[in-house]
Amino acid sequence: MLIDSKPTPEADARSLYRRLARLGDAHTYTAEACAGFAGDIATIRRLKRERNALVLAHNYQRPEIFEVADFIGDSLELARKATKVDADVIVFCGVHFMAESAKILNPEKTVLLPDLRAGCSLAESVTAERLAERKAELKQIYPDLAVVAYVNTTADVKAESDVCCTSANAVKIVNALPNRHILFVPDENLASYVQQNTDKKVIAWDGNCYVHHQITPEEILAVKAKLPHVKVLAHPECRADVLALADAVMSTSGMVDYAAKSADREFLVVTECGLSDRLLLELPEKKFYKACKLCRYMKMITLADTRAALESMRHEIVLDEQVRRGAERALARMLELG
Ligand code: SF4
Repeated sequence: MLIDSKPTPEADARSLYRRLARLGDAHTYTAEACAGFAGDIATIRRLKRERNALVLAHNYQRPEIFEVADFIGDSLELARKATKVDADVIVFCGVHFMAESAKILNPEKTVLLPDLRAGCSLAESVTAERLAERKAELKQIYPDLAVVAYVNTTADVKAESDVCCTSANAVKIVNALPNRHILFVPDENLASYVQQNTDKKVIAWDGNCYVHHQITPEEILAVKAKLPHVKVLAHPECRADVLALADAVMSTSGMVDYAAKSADREFLVVTECGLSDRLLLELPEKKFYKACKLCRYMKMITLADTRAALESMRHEIVLDEQVRRGAERALARMLELG
C-alpha cells in the first residue's frame, strides 16, 4: 500500500490524537504523547526528503509508525516494493530478517533497521549450520529432498534452501516443486497447514512464532459464543486447532484485502495486534475484534529510533555477498514457481 509521504493534517498533534483515538487505547495515545509523535513525524518527513529515503513498515508495527510509512505491508511485499522505487536509503520498520530481505533484493541501497534488537523467535529457531546437518541426514533417506524456507528466516538460512515461500504462497510453492519430499523450515504450524493441502510428504522443523502459537481454540470459541456473526480470519502461523475454527486462513496482506472487499462488517483478526490497529485506522466503517497478542520484537521499533536512524544513518544491514546471492536465488525461485 502506497502512503502519501507529504505532510498531512494528521501530522498535526490534535488531528493525530483524534485519529489514534479510534484504537481505543487512551492510556498510550494521550494528547501529550501525540504531541511528541507529531514532532518526530515532522522531523522524519524532512529527513526522508533530504536523504532520498523510504520508510517501509510491516503490518505489525506501532500505529504511529504508519504515519511516516511510504509503504505498509508484509515483509516480502515491502522488500519487492523497494526494488521499484528510486530511493538511496530504506528504513525498515520491522524485524531483522525483514530488513535483510530488503537488502537481498536491493543490494545497491542502504538499508537501516532502527533497533538491532528487533529479532524474531521463529527466524532464530533455525541456523544455516543446523539446517545443513538435517538436510544431509534426510537426504540419506529421501534423495529427492527439497528445502523450502519460509521468508521468516535469516539470509544464510535462505541461502542454504532450495526455494523460499510466504504464508500466502506456501502451498502453491510446495505443490509446484518436482520433489516429493519437503523439509519445511522453520514454522511447524505453517508446515502442518501445507501438509493438509498437499499429497507430498512435508517434514516440519521444530520452530514456531511465539505470538501465534500461544493463541488457543478456547479464546476463539469464547469470542464466537458472544459474537456468533463475526468472521474469523486467522494467520497460518496459528496452531491447527485454531485454524480449524477460522472462516478464512490467510496472510496479513490477504486479511487487509479480504476485509476491504468483503460484504461482512465485523471480523475477529487472529494474528499480531498491529494488523488490527492498521485495519481499525484504514477501514473505520467496519469493526475489528482483536484475538491477538503483541510481538515484543515488532514493538521494539519506535518513532524516536526511526528518527535517530535517519539522523545518524545508524544500524545499517550488511550481508556477505555470497550469502546475499544464495538467498536471492532462493527468493527468485519462489517468484518463478509462484
Ligand atoms: S510475530 Fe512472530 S514471526 Fe513475526 S516477528 Fe514476531 S515472533 Fe517473528
